[in-house]
Amino acid sequence: MIENVSIALSSGHYAYIFADTNWHTSMDIGDIAAVETADDIYYIDTGMYDTSAYGSVYIIDADQPAIVDTGIGTNYERIIDALASVDIEPDSLAHLLVTHAHLDHAGGAGFLIADCPNATVHTHERAGPHLSDPARLIEGTKAAVGNQWQYYVEPKPVPESRINTLSDGDTIDLGDRSITTVAAPGHALHQILFYDPTEGVLFTGDSAGIYVPKRDRIQQTSPPSQFNLETCLDDVRTIDAMAPETLCFGHFGPRVYDDELLSSYKRALVEWVEAVRQKRAEANSDEDVIQHFGNNAELTDVWGTEKARAESRLNVRGVLAYLDWQAAQTEWLTYSRVWRRGYSPCSLYLSSISDVLHFSGVVYRPPHPPLHPTHSLCSPLVDRGLRPDTCIWLQR
Ligand SMILES: [Zn+2]
Repeated sequence: MIENVSIALSSGHYAYIFADTNWHTSMDIGDIAAVETADDIYYIDTGMYDTSAYGSVYIIDADQPAIVDTGIGTNYERIIDALASVDIEPDSLAHLLVTHAHLDHAGGAGFLIADCPNATVHTHERAGPHLSDPARLIEGTKAAVGNQWQYYVEPKPVPESRINTLSDGDTIDLGDRSITTVAAPGHALHQILFYDPTEGVLFTGDSAGIYVPKRDRIQQTSPPSQFNLETCLDDVRTIDAMAPETLCFGHFGPRVYDDELLSSYKRALVEWVEAVRQKRAEANSDEDVIQHFGNNAELTDVWGTEKARAESRLNVRGVLAYLDWQAAQTEWLTYSRVWRRGYSPCSLYLSSISDVLHFSGVVYRPPHPPLHPTHSLCSPLVDRGLRPDTCIWLQR
């Protein structure tokens, strides 16, 4: 690990490569620091939304150098500068590991691969198509983030030939270490985490929430359109089961793994969804709910009022979409209702999740309680090796 180095960057910022104990709170936009619990891993404050300590991109200075996530695209040159400060030329960058397709993680990919001609983008198989054709991503982001779009830049498409798509359990060889992948679909179905077992470092994307270094706590992230509370909790349980030494958060920075910290995040997520649900029950409209939580946003003193309120409104929209989805599940998929409405249980259609998405616009999860695998109408299908949780009912 390099220590105690300060380098003037062409952007006018300084790169501080140090290992003191205050790295949490010492950084500013454009700065780079070492992940002190690991060798050869660094992180940069990308200055996302003109907010410090919000968006981080990691550099793994391996035999085949890699970065994890790519920032929002705006000011992507800061990442190139950061690479230079640890002596990685653009030609030498071999891998871009993109945790998910949300533009605050994937938006820089197209710009960076244009500057780094030998780099391959590795991302979840669901994210790949969005990176090569970002039109839907742009449209969805504009709808979700409102006036925050001013901080974005339209992403450049990544040629398909430069994308390697991944699923759970794949590996990426960096020469002196191998990265393994862990699917984490709760925040977004296209999310995959990267684990460096050599260093015990897990790059969490958004699966473990937003770490706030100044408070040493985790803030919820629940954006539209695929946020799912139960699956998010499952993802945190997956991380707990792995018990890595260090969590490298997409927002923001590294933190030594601590099961109590993650337990507090699980509680925060449940309480957050419940708070939105209750407010919706008493409010006149969803817009009132969004405004209520926006006006009472937390962390205004950390992120600034504008960003903190925008973050809160985005998270409310995600929860409202999730609550709608939950209601749709009950409407669509609870057996008794399906039966009452004249849907035929004989026309069970078994499908991959992507087909389910395509068909219904929502992802199927077993209703509560789930269809029982030994139910008389399900058992013939289960006997044929088909899993009830991959079923949807079709109308005859
Ligand atoms: Zn995200």
